[in-house]
Amino acid sequence: MTHSAILDNVKKRNPNEPEFLQAAEEVIASVLPVLEKNPEFARLKLLERMLEPERLISFRVTWLDDRGEVQVNRGYRVQMNSAIGPYKGGLRFHPTVTPSVLKFLAFEQVFKNALTGIPMGGGKGGSDFDPKGKSDNEVMKFCQAFMGELARHIGHRLDVPAGDIGVGGREIGFLFGAYKKIRNEFTGVLTGKGIGWGGSLIRTEATGYGLIYFAENMLQNVGSSTKGKTCLVSGSGNVSQYAIEKIIQLGGKAITASDSNGVVVDEAGITMEKLEFLKELKNNRRGRIKEYADKYKCTYLSIDAKAEYNPLWNIKADCAFPCATQNEINAKDAGNLVKNGVKLLAEGANMPTTIDGINIVLDNGVMYAPGKASNAGGVATSGLEMTQNYMGSNWTREEVDAKLVGIMKDIHDTSLAAAKEYGSPGNYMAGANIAGFIKVAKAMQAQGVI
Ligand code: NDP
Repeated sequence: MTHSAILDNVKKRNPNEPEFLQAAEEVIASVLPVLEKNPEFARLKLLERMLEPERLISFRVTWLDDRGEVQVNRGYRVQMNSAIGPYKGGLRFHPTVTPSVLKFLAFEQVFKNALTGIPMGGGKGGSDFDPKGKSDNEVMKFCQAFMGELARHIGHRLDVPAGDIGVGGREIGFLFGAYKKIRNEFTGVLTGKGIGWGGSLIRTEATGYGLIYFAENMLQNVGSSTKGKTCLVSGSGNVSQYAIEKIIQLGGKAITASDSNGVVVDEAGITMEKLEFLKELKNNRRGRIKEYADKYKCTYLSIDAKAEYNPLWNIKADCAFPCATQNEINAKDAGNLVKNGVKLLAEGANMPTTIDGINIVLDNGVMYAPGKASNAGGVATSGLEMTQNYMGSNWTREEVDAKLVGIMKDIHDTSLAAAKEYGSPGNYMAGANIAGFIKVAKAMQAQGVI
């Protein structure tokens, strides 16, 4: 089948799923040279099979809020591909969660997990539940109801969920407690657990740290480094906080952070002290980022979701790190980044750049790293948490961090090598898609037509 025939078929089979089609389109275009070189992969329809989830579970979640009112939400788990290991991927709690969003995330996860070198298949799940504005008690009630159904579909050798947007340490705790009670077993069924009950040191920091380690590799590859670079970071959640922390530690200057309401622009640079305030504001008090601008007297720009562009990407800088959500950089934003002299765009979020946006940055010589390579440090460290759970012992902070540094360098080098071998030297997107695809394809080929 040709590129357009495969894409047409996916479009026909998945109508009204724009996010999934966007993720599929990018990968299909990248792996075409692999299919041409390996006709056996094409004959076995390995790409077509990867585009179809092994299983998609949808279920009702019913719970009582603090006023005693019945609430009804929808829960999902997409078990995308288990060719190289148990399904692995986060849970997202956000009102925008749909099967299309979770299928795109699960599809990307398959390639990302393959790149880490740790044996993990791909999955993703979540709910349209919105934790914002809910009490701790309501979040716990929801998590218990959600796990009441999910528990029968997961297991430490079968499917190991983790956090994502709206699912942090608090939610993982409630979900783990519910699973343990239902199944009467203490296993590493979730990652991102607390230290002291099966969690790994550095897991909380891993996605943000890994992102900046990856960018450092990209910069070193062209004889530069993070030191002295002015950086734009979006979001103010888990990934953003630790990306900012690592930028500071490596001598760079992070000047922005955001939430869904607005952007703070701190020209003097976010310091460790200001970052501690941000963490306390977002993780404990669950407040809005405007408070940061008020406290440190810096510029605050409101975000209008319907506006043509996001003001965050229209600021002079050297590097850009989108760490909030999908499609936060459109073609106009990408043009603004180029205009403002940005030389490196590395994704902390999943699919934050539209296909048009990617083409603009690539055409203008911006070094671009796709999330499935540059944000893989989170799931890689989840893989390390699983290994520690299987062994029944814990590594030190230094040991886990050293492994994370090594994994991010391997993903960087593997992506570059695959891009070169298949005729797109320097193109991390093509390289990551190709290297991930080949690994999963070989396993599927060996396991027969199932
Ligand atoms: P958090 O929930 O901790 O933070 C999300 C941040 O993004 C918040 O600042 C939030 O603002 C903002 N945000 C979320 N949705 C939107 C939206 N629709 N429009 C504008 N802003 C939005 O999530 P994470 O930091 O864990 O995840 C961020 C991204 O990184 C996601 O794309 C996720 O898939 C990806 N990722 C996460 C990993 C992890 O280990 N956590 C691993 C790999 C990728 P507000 O508070 O206003 O909602």
